[in-house]
This record gives sequence, C-alpha cells and structure tokens, in this order.
Amino acid sequence: MATTPKRALKRVWSTTTRTAIKALLRDCHRKLPRDVVGVFYHAIGDHPMPHVQHLYFPIPTAVFREDLDFLQTDFRVVAYEDVHNARLGKGILPPHAAHLSFDDGYRECFTVVRPILKARGIPATFFVTAEFVGNSRLFARNLISLAVDRLHSMPAEERLALLARASLPQDPAEWKEALARLPEESLKAFLHKTGIDPEAWLAENKPFLNEEEIRSLHISGFTIGAHGLTHRKLSGLPPEEAEREIIESCAYVRDITGQKAVPFAFPHSGHGIDRKWLYDVRQRNPFVGLFFDTKGMVNDASWVVQRIWAERPQWRNAKSFAPLADIVGAACRDAVLERLHAK
Ligand SMILES: [Zn+2]
Repeated sequence: MATTPKRALKRVWSTTTRTAIKALLRDCHRKLPRDVVGVFYHAIGDHPMPHVQHLYFPIPTAVFREDLDFLQTDFRVVAYEDVHNARLGKGILPPHAAHLSFDDGYRECFTVVRPILKARGIPATFFVTAEFVGNSRLFARNLISLAVDRLHSMPAEERLALLARASLPQDPAEWKEALARLPEESLKAFLHKTGIDPEAWLAENKPFLNEEEIRSLHISGFTIGAHGLTHRKLSGLPPEEAEREIIESCAYVRDITGQKAVPFAFPHSGHGIDRKWLYDVRQRNPFVGLFFDTKGMVNDASWVVQRIWAERPQWRNAKSFAPLADIVGAACRDAVLERLHAK
C-alpha cells in the first residue's frame, strides 16, 4: 500500500525524535546553568500509609535508594549551610550541586529516611509544620486520604448507602475533590461515620515527628526548616497573617534546635507571593533563612531555592515509579520552556 512507507518513515522519525529528546533531557540538568538543583519528597517507606497514599504515592525504600544512587552519581549533594552561604555570596557551591529536602515532618523522616541518609553521608533538610509536631493535630489532607482509603475497603453496599446519606458522589474518581470541599469538622464527622475516630487514629498512629526526634535529627547533622504554623497556603492570607506563619514557625524551629538560621518551605507552593514583600520579611527577621519553593528548576530570587517534587508515579501507573533522572529531565524541559516563553 502506498501509505506503508509513509507510515514506516513516520514511525522511524518519531522514534528517532523521542530518542534524541530523551538524550537531550538526560544531560539537560548539566547544561542548564543552575547553582543547585533542589529535590524534595514527603513520605518514604514500605509500609501502608493510608493518611498520605491517596494524595501522592509514598516512595518505597528500594526506589528511594535508586534515586540516591542517581543523585550521588550525577550530582554533588550539599548541605543547607552550603546553599545558604553560596546564595548570600559567602561561599561557592561545587559544580552540579543538589540539595535534598523533605516536607511536612512525617515520622518516617526519622525512622526510615534518617538511617538511609546517615549510612551514605548525605545531608538534607527536614521542613516541619509547627501544629503537626508531636501529633497534636492531623492535617486536613490526611483526613481526606484516610476517608478515601476507608471507602475503598468498605463493603460496596455499605459504602453506597453512606455516600448517598452524605450527598457525596459514588464515583471514586470524584471522592477526593468532593471531600476537599467539606469544612474540617464535617470531614471529621464523615470519617467517624466510616468507622474511624480521627483523634484516636492520630493518638495510635502518631504520623508526625515529635520535638525529641527533631532535636535528634538536628544533632545528627541534618538541618531543620519551618513549613508554617498551620500549613495554610500563604498567598491566600492577609500579609500580617502570612508573615506570622513564616516568623513564628521559624522561631519555633530555632527554639527547638538552636539553629541560627531557619529555612522556610512554602506550604503548598510559594506561587503568587510577592518576592519584594518576602525580601522585606527577611530583612526584618534575619534569623529567617532561605525560602524553598516547588516550581522545579525555574529561576527565582537568589534567596529562593526552587525544588523538584520527586514523588510522582509514572503517568497512569501507580505501581511504577518514574526514575528520578526522568523527573529531573522533565523539570529541566519545563524550565527551558518557561525561559523561552519569558523572552
Ligand atoms: Zn507541605
């Protein structure tokens, strides 16, 4: 048929293009001028984590070890202090520097991540949210994940009746969004109806770090950062409220650890927060360290470190995790596109 050679040519062309793009991306992080590449996670572990696994997929330790192999081969993993000094013009980072960090302060930072990093001599920063430390409160997103998890494990008939009574959609794909629209008290009440008492679950499972573990991480040489008092998105708050979230959470970490400078990672993201306003907040409060955001490898102010979220499963396949090299490659592509778009 006349179209066959055309189709064959098309196939060869697309395969060649894909291979060429992959080869370009593989080395992209070395070519894109960047003093440090930030990489961050939330939860690492091989055990079930019903409070997070319907938000994103916790990274199994074998995958995490492969990620670290990649980081240690392609990058020089540096401590927060090195990044801090370099960004303030008091030091120079080695070529291909990377910095590793963990948000939200889950217990696994101490029980799973700490021993793996210590054995390899890899530095990292752990960002903790003041209200969650010591397990005095469960994050609203954890409540959503717990509810979704419980709904999946309920007998179908019971689940359908419960969803109908609560005026929630029957389609599992819509649960998360529908639950996220509920006020926290209604979410807790719904969780009770599924058979989970959120307060009892929190007391029994203790999903977050306590102050003793935070102190111990700091003594082991890791940096502790702040991640807000309440994990609210700062861009939606009045300026004085947003400033309080930054300063008081940094002061809280300073008081636990004795660190002179406390870095701050924006809860959710720092998108939409005026950098000039942030600059002034830092000037007024010199103990606030660098800010950490989540926009991959795009450029920002010198005192804002952008980071790549390393916890994405491969598209449409929850069981298979994209290698960190591919995630870094994709972040690199996005940064190049953003740069072109800005021109
Ligand atoms: Zn967070």
